[in-house]
Amino acid sequence: MPPSDTIQETLNTPVAGRYDVIVVGGGASGTVAAIAAARTGARTLLVERGGCLGGAATANLVAQWVAFFHGETRVVGGIPFELAERVQAAGGSDGFHRYVMGEAAGTPFPLRVLPFNPETVKWVLDGAVSEAGAEVLLHTSFARALVRDGAISGVTVESVQGRLALLAPVVVDASGDALVCASAGVPFQDDGGERQPCTLSFRLSNVDVARFRAVPSDERRARVLDGLRRGELFWESLSFVSTPGGTDAICLMSRIQDIDALDARDASRAEQEGRRQIASIVGFLRREIPGFEHAILADVAERVGVRETRRIEGRYTLSEEDIMQARGFEDSIALGAGPMDRHQPGGTGIRLYAPPQPFEIPLRTLLPAGVEGLLVCGRTLSATREAMAGARHMATSMAMGQAVGTLGAIAAAGSRPPSDVPVSQVQHRLAQDHALFRREQVVRQNPPA
Ligand SMILES: Cc1cc2nc3c(=O)[nH]c(=O)nc-3n(C[C@H](O)[C@H](O)[C@H](O)COP(=O)(O)OP(=O)(O)OC[C@H]3O[C@@H](n4cnc5c(N)ncnc54)[C@H](O)[C@@H]3O)c2cc1C
Repeated sequence: MPPSDTIQETLNTPVAGRYDVIVVGGGASGTVAAIAAARTGARTLLVERGGCLGGAATANLVAQWVAFFHGETRVVGGIPFELAERVQAAGGSDGFHRYVMGEAAGTPFPLRVLPFNPETVKWVLDGAVSEAGAEVLLHTSFARALVRDGAISGVTVESVQGRLALLAPVVVDASGDALVCASAGVPFQDDGGERQPCTLSFRLSNVDVARFRAVPSDERRARVLDGLRRGELFWESLSFVSTPGGTDAICLMSRIQDIDALDARDASRAEQEGRRQIASIVGFLRREIPGFEHAILADVAERVGVRETRRIEGRYTLSEEDIMQARGFEDSIALGAGPMDRHQPGGTGIRLYAPPQPFEIPLRTLLPAGVEGLLVCGRTLSATREAMAGARHMATSMAMGQAVGTLGAIAAAGSRPPSDVPVSQVQHRLAQDHALFRREQVVRQNPPA
């Protein structure tokens, strides 16, 4: 929606709070960043536009955390792994499972994932954030970055109270769209405008998941290709996550092309097209797929899931070669596991391949060029498109969140900019908090029985 004209507004915005660290976006990476900052002693505020924390995991019904494991080796510890354990203890998951990503696609890919009930994740995160002592503002949208002399000093937000200013020397942009960075004038990677498709997820109840799982994979693929030919399906996958109990299937089967999620008209079209596709997919599943005959549409995600928008230009740009050659970095602060999954823009396929080893993510990818005090985490890190496809999974995003939350709190405590904090100090604290960030550190776990 390109602006056709401008008007001038004069605003007197009340200052509603002063903090050490403000985190914008309460998704995978931002929630963990806020917990880490608060546990490291910072007065922390977490600002989220929706009514719950969790981001893609909850609002988009992306109901499985990927990338805790590379093969059978766990590569993410610290706060993310603690949250995974808390979700299980709360009855929201029956543990890590083997799962085939892109099931019924040309390149299916086996992974160890943590499937969960998104509703449980919501209250587990509420509890973890409040125990850490961070304040949360839900239903509050970021509006503008406050920048003075090349350094961030806070943000303005819009909530039911109208426009408010919130001040802090450190702001973490965990919005998934690098909204704070855009407002602060941070440059972005040039991506040529191509975007992976969006997906509106939905939940079916009254499904016999065991009966579905017993259908041989070549038969599933044949049925999917038939559905695609008839225009009733939209990509080569029967992509389901089942919650504990085996009666519900969360389906990631819509595929909405040519969407720039940073354009309000495109974003609206994505929701409507997603619902149109879901109506068709549900009919197909009930008619064609064993186990779904009596399925009931129980829920549609609050928002369409967006795989990519902006990636910042940071002090280092992670590349596919860094990942595939397992390059080591002095300033590594998190480990990624992949897979590299690229959903074909404009097509019905997916390209999936694995990094040969867990890969290191340098802190410099989370430090935006040109603005002091501003940090990023999650899918907007400074990376090429290919590298982002391998680093965007939620366990990796959460690990980045722990690193920048910790850094932000250390910087605020010493009244110095984050880029002046020695990385060894951040790594020392991360190690104390059981985070994993060096390839040599990772523990080999026994495969599940
Ligand atoms: C369809 C789909 C399927 C996927 N499948 C998987 C999978 O199976 N497993 C996996 O691990 N990963 C999966 N991913 C990738 C993963 O979900 C994301 O890459 C990951 O969530 C990125 O974390 P994040 O913290 O950057 O963003 P998010 O988790 O998206 O969080 C961003 C948060 O910022 C908030 N926000 C946005 N704008 C504002 C604003 N103006 N003011 C305040 N708050 C704001 C949002 O509401 C949201 O809560 C999938 C993604 C999609 C879209």
